Amino acid sequence: MSQQPGQLTFVAPRRAKPARHLADLSMAERRAAVTELGEKAFRADQLSRHYFERHTADVAEMTDLSAAARDKLSALLPTLLTPVKELTTDGGTTRKTLWRLFDGALVESVLMRYPERVTMCVSSQAGCGMNCPFCATGQAGLTRNMSTAEIVEQVVSGARALAAGEVPGGPGRVSNIVFMGMGEPLANYKQVIGAVRRIVDPAPHGLGISARGVTVSTVGLVPAIGKLAEEGLPVTLALSLHAPDDELRDTLVPINTRWKVAEVLDAAWSYAAKTKRRISIEYALIKDVNDQEWRADLLGKLVRNKLVHVNLIPLNPTPGSKWTASRPEDERAFVRRLEFHGVPVTVRDTRGREIDGACGQLAAAE
Ligand code: SAH
Repeated sequence: MSQQPGQLTFVAPRRAKPARHLADLSMAERRAAVTELGEKAFRADQLSRHYFERHTADVAEMTDLSAAARDKLSALLPTLLTPVKELTTDGGTTRKTLWRLFDGALVESVLMRYPERVTMCVSSQAGCGMNCPFCATGQAGLTRNMSTAEIVEQVVSGARALAAGEVPGGPGRVSNIVFMGMGEPLANYKQVIGAVRRIVDPAPHGLGISARGVTVSTVGLVPAIGKLAEEGLPVTLALSLHAPDDELRDTLVPINTRWKVAEVLDAAWSYAAKTKRRISIEYALIKDVNDQEWRADLLGKLVRNKLVHVNLIPLNPTPGSKWTASRPEDERAFVRRLEFHGVPVTVRDTRGREIDGACGQLAAAE
């Protein structure tokens, strides 16, 4: 499934679909599904509360339902994700889970607990078709799209572990979701939007996590950015820019051969105007590749006076890549140039590096 340099894969290979799950369905669809199973429609609300509020997927624990009802309703809670491996670092507050999907496809998610928040980084595809040469996921190619429920289950499992006090720091809740795991979320648009709705809708419809805490990251699929702006979901849009000029971006982010820097930034500014949300520009600093002061200046000129925040990410090492992170002095100079233009900028921490759980390192190998 590996790709030639620059090759893009938009359409996921046709594969058998995962079983239908409660989290795939809107509340109206759940009521219909429960009725089809021969139960009263209000059972959908009960089932939803168990799943989205208490994170229970085992019908044996649902003692407000009769044994016969539990039996029937278990059809809506198939096991979609099986944990294969769990790696932790930072004293247990960063944990990466490798999951096996029903058909053997592998994906990863990462939970990061900070003093004031818990962020979950989730995958939206097994593999990725966008082929960015510095990203481990991109090198493996696209296996398949994930279903809405497969995406949501990553969050529910993290929420369950936190509520049970399994993550050091006492019982907690998931406050932030970033679609920055494996895959290009906007290339699996419909399933990702479904997952975002389940994540932000209040219980019993969904998990009730604030849309302000949700970030969808993209290489820059311009038509899909336009569509996302119309969804009425005020999530943060992160744009993986990595170069301010087309010549370099064509090689670092191959989608740039379709939609150029100017077009993708225009789409981002329209998104900001529509949603009033600050655009997050992601820029991995790669030594002697994209970290020159003149590129910082060019970036600064492109984004100054916009509703924007630039996130610089020191390049994380990936297998087979010849590139490394910028020298500290070049990183500092890059930050200074952006600040000179009045652009808000931070350097992202490299949480999870030791467990190959940081940006661009998710490769889902056993
Ligand atoms: N496909 C989406 C979602 C993945 S987000 C996107 O690209 O936006 C993962 C983020 O980590 C992206 O900004 C990506 O460009 C960045 N990234 C990939 N490889 C990296 C690496 N080796 N070091 C640092 N950041 C990397």
